[in-house]
Amino acid sequence: MTTKKPASSAGTVGDDILTVHALVKRHQPDLASRYWPACGAGKDDDRVFEWLRRVNCPDCLDI
Ligand SMILES: [Zn+2]
Repeated sequence: MTTKKPASSAGTVGDDILTVHALVKRHQPDLASRYWPACGAGKDDDRVFEWLRRVNCPDCLDI
């Protein structure tokens, strides 16, 4: 299987495990999650989980 897209992270935030966001690194090392949804979904105390899944968040896909 090949893909033309560059490797990037995808994952879910908080209790919503159906919406897969594009994850970007963020720069606050004191926060629990190293990656954060590109669209800004979730709250600071939500956990972010990386998944090997296709991004399906419309906001992230639109960025
Ligand atoms: Zn998103």
